[in-house]
Amino acid sequence: MYWFYPCHQDKKGVVFSVAIMKKKKIKLKNELPDRKEIVKQLDNLWRVLINNRDEKCVKCGKLTKLQAAHIFSRRNCGTRWLPENGLLLCVGCHLFWAHKEPIEFAEFVRQRLGEKEYELLRMKATKPTKFTVSELVILSKELRKIIDKGVKNIETTW
Ligand SMILES: [Zn+2]
Repeated sequence: MYWFYPCHQDKKGVVFSVAIMKKKKIKLKNELPDRKEIVKQLDNLWRVLINNRDEKCVKCGKLTKLQAAHIFSRRNCGTRWLPENGLLLCVGCHLFWAHKEPIEFAEFVRQRLGEKEYELLRMKATKPTKFTVSELVILSKELRKIIDKGVKNIETTW
């Protein structure tokens, strides 16, 4: 499982990760969407990705009334759209288990991801992160690419 580095390719074919774009203060020249709009789009893409990847409730195996649940709250921008920060849960498991039994839920996730990955995810979640609109646009393109490719094929690289 790797940290998800969305990339931007300039005219010369140079690829920048969002981390580098941040450092160099690179911005996209095209007209940018509204922040609210792109955040909404990213939330939807992330939801589709988690649905396609997990297909059923990862806790009880139910196939209906599924919701893409965040492991670390979506308030944490650094992990809000990270594939590894999501799990597909049925409404029952989401609301009456994950939210009601946070310690048990954390333990379940820790075992699923492994100690090391869980800690890494926790660190990313707690690190204050703010994306520019340009970065969010690139992130959405990257999520779309993963969805189009078929998330099953690249599951092992996350
Ligand atoms: Zn369930």
